[in-house]
Amino acid sequence: MDLRLSDAERALRDELRAWLAGTLPELDATPAREDWPSRRRFDLEWQKRLFDAGYAGMSWPVEYGGRGATPGEQLVFLEEMADARAPTVGVNFVGLLHAGPTLMVEATAEQKTAHLPAILRGDEVWCQGFSEPSAGSDLASLRTRAVRDGEEYVVNGQKIWSSFAHVADWAEVLVRTDPDAPKHKGISWLMLDMTTPGITVRPIHTALGSSEFCEVFFDEVRVPITNRVGLENDGWRVAMVTFGFERGTGFVGELMEARRHASDLAALAQRLGKWDDPGLRREIGALAAEFDALWALTKRNVTEATSDGVPGPGGSVLKLRLCEAAQELYDVGRRFIGRAGLTFDDLAGIPTGFIVEERLRSLGFTLGGGTTQIQRNIVGERVLGLPKEPAPAP
Ligand SMILES: Cc1cc2nc3c(=O)[nH]c(=O)nc-3n(C[C@H](O)[C@H](O)[C@H](O)COP(=O)(O)OP(=O)(O)OC[C@H]3O[C@@H](n4cnc5c(N)ncnc54)[C@H](O)[C@@H]3O)c2cc1C
Repeated sequence: MDLRLSDAERALRDELRAWLAGTLPELDATPAREDWPSRRRFDLEWQKRLFDAGYAGMSWPVEYGGRGATPGEQLVFLEEMADARAPTVGVNFVGLLHAGPTLMVEATAEQKTAHLPAILRGDEVWCQGFSEPSAGSDLASLRTRAVRDGEEYVVNGQKIWSSFAHVADWAEVLVRTDPDAPKHKGISWLMLDMTTPGITVRPIHTALGSSEFCEVFFDEVRVPITNRVGLENDGWRVAMVTFGFERGTGFVGELMEARRHASDLAALAQRLGKWDDPGLRREIGALAAEFDALWALTKRNVTEATSDGVPGPGGSVLKLRLCEAAQELYDVGRRFIGRAGLTFDDLAGIPTGFIVEERLRSLGFTLGGGTTQIQRNIVGERVLGLPKEPAPAP
């Protein structure tokens, strides 16, 4: 692939820079971390601005409100947004980065029309209800049950670690529709309206003092059969499409942020008089080079995704290395800021709090979307062609 910008990409870049320069100063201040109504409002207002300006859903088809842009243009958009420090996808990362894209590939025309424009306009927030207390890495062991009753499924069970479920309107949910089939073959993928009676959402408080994860309980929740995406009992295959997007392009925002933080750490080290240390310069430089290499890999993943619409296992390589390298970067930062690394607060106006916060937040990166060990299994089997992991002893 050609890494240079085409004329059209350069024109888009210039147009975006001008738009961002005019728009970003108009935004309200970023809301406090635990002010969920304000966070939802802020993120959706940003999404509406993108939509009105023609920048929502860069790669999504025009008929569903997207821009129908080329992969190259999509990457220009991501890079310009990150460089300008524009708001990120925020509470609707599931809708924009993997539920929406899954609908684009797998849903019926009616389902797409009902949801894709609403996601892009900033009218619908989605969450993901895949993991359960006993089904994380071994997701196919999930037990949330959906039983047909006329034109509806009746859903009972529990999900856990559902990010932003307390501010979501819809959920992508995996349910067991055939308990007698082999475990990967009795699962279906449903769109679930979070206002349906029988749903209880309970936020979980994390070590970071935040509450973005939730437990979600289903008690006789009735879901129209028309809300199933894909065939009944074919939900595992649909979930693999979701994971393709989640790992393939879902972490691009985190990558852009890590790249920016490598520069921020270098600037901070200079300000604190630590930049004379060649070991520190080498560590930050090596990680910055790795983030650049991962950005090049992202370009390849995005280009590949257009051939069949779904990112391949290259996404696991990206997620695996990015999540570990990000943790290494914040560890380097914590080392040179000394005791300031004991608090989230910026001391004496020096910006060190983000290092502590990002280090703790990055713990979750190596778990969410499939743990590091699971990514290693995928890379081993699907990229390197190594033998499959032996099945556990009965
Ligand atoms: C930031 C974040 C956001 C998340 N958001 C969501 C969400 O929105 N929706 C949702 O449904 N879930 C979400 N999750 C849950 C996430 O998908 C699970 O935490 C993850 O799949 C791991 O499952 P588990 O926590 O049950 O750990 P387990 O599966 O119990 O794993 C425990 C440990 O055993 C290791 N292990 C397990 N199996 C193997 C194996 N075969 N080979 C080698 N090692 C293995 C794991 O790597 C891990 O270290 C999120 C998690 C995080 C941290």
